[in-house]
Amino acid sequence: MPEPSPSDRRKAAELAHEVARTLLIDCVELGYDISFKCQYCGMERTWGRREMLGERLRKSLAWPISRLQRAVVCPVRGCGGPMPILRLMKGGYQDGFDRADQERRRDWLINTLLDAGIAPDAVGLAWKPGQ
Ligand SMILES: [Zn+2]
Repeated sequence: MPEPSPSDRRKAAELAHEVARTLLIDCVELGYDISFKCQYCGMERTWGRREMLGERLRKSLAWPISRLQRAVVCPVRGCGGPMPILRLMKGGYQDGFDRADQERRRDWLINTLLDAGIAPDAVGLAWKPGQ
């Protein structure tokens, strides 16, 4: 099989418009996981909520997926391939409330961030302690 051309790779990595502008923090709030596939070595992994709130990705929580895609590279040693294929997937989280309830969902998000040691205003959420 011939090596994909740069334009093949660009096409493969292309994000749907709604996905491109979705923020990483929105994925946490809406209960999405992100599937990651390297275009060079084929490595696949899933970023769940734990990874999004973890050391490596938490600095990118306020970024849209399009920016995240440009910033990350394949973690496989000797690969380091850029522009992974990123897809959003329903994460199947059971958090004990209806995600359609925006107010409840926002409260949950604030608490989840605080539990993870992340200041909500550091990821762009308007929030005052004691609110
Ligand atoms: Zn790779």
